[in-house]
Order: sequence, then C-alpha cells, then structure tokens
Amino acid sequence: MRFEHVLVVGAGQMGGGIAQVVAASGRHVSLHDPLPGAVDRGVAAMRTSLERLAEKGGGDPDETLARVTPVDELVPAELMIEAITEDAPAKEELFRRADELLPAEAILASNTSSIPITSLAAVTRTPERVIGMHFFNPVPVLRLVEVIRAMQTSDETAAAIVELARDLGKEPAEARDFPGFVSNRILMPFINEAAYALMEGVAEAEAIDTIAKLGFAHPLGPLALADLIGLDTCVAIMEVLHRGLGDPKYAPCPLLRQYVQAGRLGRKSGRGFYDYSRS
Ligand code: NAD
Repeated sequence: MRFEHVLVVGAGQMGGGIAQVVAASGRHVSLHDPLPGAVDRGVAAMRTSLERLAEKGGGDPDETLARVTPVDELVPAELMIEAITEDAPAKEELFRRADELLPAEAILASNTSSIPITSLAAVTRTPERVIGMHFFNPVPVLRLVEVIRAMQTSDETAAAIVELARDLGKEPAEARDFPGFVSNRILMPFINEAAYALMEGVAEAEAIDTIAKLGFAHPLGPLALADLIGLDTCVAIMEVLHRGLGDPKYAPCPLLRQYVQAGRLGRKSGRGFYDYSRS
C-alpha cells in the first residue's frame, strides 16, 4: 500500500473527514491542528460519523480511530494533506515548513477550494511534489476528488494521487489550476447569486432552497449548502475568483460578508442563513 503514513493538517470539518477516510483505508494518520480542542472535536466528529457508517455495515470505529494519532507539530510522513483555513498566506507558510520537515520524496497536497496550487508549489524547493487534492463535504459520503496539478507538478505526483483517490473509494477528476478550479468556479457563483436573491428580497431563504431542491433536483438548496460549507469559506473563495479572474460578477455578495462579520458562519457556528442552535 502506498502512503502508509499520512499527515493531515487542519482538523476542522474537512481535515477530520479526510483523516477518517484515510484511516478507514488502513493507513496511519497523524492529525495536527494548533487550535486548542480542534483535534479532540475532529476525533469526536469522526467517531459519530464512523458509528453511523458502522450501523450500515461499515468497519469498526475503534479500529479506524486507533490509526489516528494527534500530533502537536508537523511530523515526517509519506504524504501531507493540508486542510487548514482558506487563507493563502497561512497555507504558503505551512507549505514552506512542510517542505523543510517532510522527506524529499513525500507528496504535499492541498485540499484548498480555490487558492492557486501553483503559488503553493512556488514557495517550496521541490514544487514538482505539490498538488491539489480537493475532497468534498461530507468527505466520507461524497465520492468526488478534484485533482489539480500546479504548473510545476510532476506526472509521477499526479499519478500517485489519482491512484490514492481510487484506493480511498473516490472518483478522481482532473482540473487545471485556474481560480476555483472547476467545482467552485461553478458552485460559488450559484451560492453567491442565491445570497443576492435573498438580499434583494426576491424570495425567503426557504423558498430559494426549495426551488433548487425541487426544480433542479439538488439534495440541498444553495443557502443550506453555503451553511454546510461555511460562509467564511464561501467569501474567501469568491474573493479568490474575483481577484483571479478580474470580473466584477465574482464579487462576494454584501449579505454574505455581513453574515461573516456577525460571526454567523453557518453550521459550524450554530447560525448562518438558518439557525442550528437546537440541532
Ligand atoms: P474549518 O474552519 O472547519 O477548519 C479549519 C481548521 O484549520 C481549523 O480547525 C483551524 O484551527 C485549522 N488551522 C488554521 N490554521 C492552521 C495552521 N496554520 N496549521 C494547522 N491548522 C490550522 O474549515 P474547513 O471547512 O475544514 O476547510 C478547510 C479547507 O478545506 C479550506 O481550504 C477549504 O477551502 C477547504 N474545503 C472546504 C470545504 C467545505 O465544504 N467546508 C470543501 C472542500 C474544501
């Protein structure tokens, strides 16, 4: 098995989900997040998800969790998957450190939704081993992994990540390193437009989501999906699209920004377009 030891950095909703599927595949995972309590919360979320999957015939949650080790620092591994906050300087700093600390043959992957992989590769001395490995939320459920090559990524790195995605039970799809890649180039303007429709009073949030669910057969409406993703992450992605593509149509909706300013980040803060405080 390739990548027997994987370092996952960031234990939020994506890092936790990634650690879970990697550990469930039989690999060892080191999980790092400097925010106090973040790793514990990540592991608790993994347990809930694994127990739910076990009821449907999935593996033993304890066995999977035994392969996840919390670590206080970056540790050497054959692969790093970065899933920290969507912030370019923070990710660049992390890739600089990982480039120094991980063995030269290790692969450095980012789960970023939109930040150019080419610029993350450029801060390392070994850019050919840097790649985008973009999972979808919730990671244990959704099968897509968008694989994004930086301009500098080697064929060998890309082939290894495609193979790993398949081995995790996922379906890889390759995209070029343009702002938002494919998935968020399409999804985020949809969510942003839904926020504009709400802001302009075209319809209530529930009606907007019902229209997308019943009219387009989407499992979740755009506002409920934005709450799941995190409104801070949605604004950060729109900013990357806006800056990177230079078209005013990608400017984040002022209402989205205002929710973020108010700390209404969606499910993770208990309130976004909808109230989750009682769920
Ligand atoms: P989150 O806010 O749930 O978690 C981010 C975690 O990163 C936090 O626990 C934070 O403490 C940690 N962190 C911040 N800086 C760090 C650092 N320097 N070192 C280590 N840990 C650090 O965010 P999330 O939703 O899990 O998103 C993480 C990444 O995944 C982002 O790049 C996001 O764009 C991407 N992504 C998110 C979704 C989604 O639906 N939320 C989907 C695909 C990709």
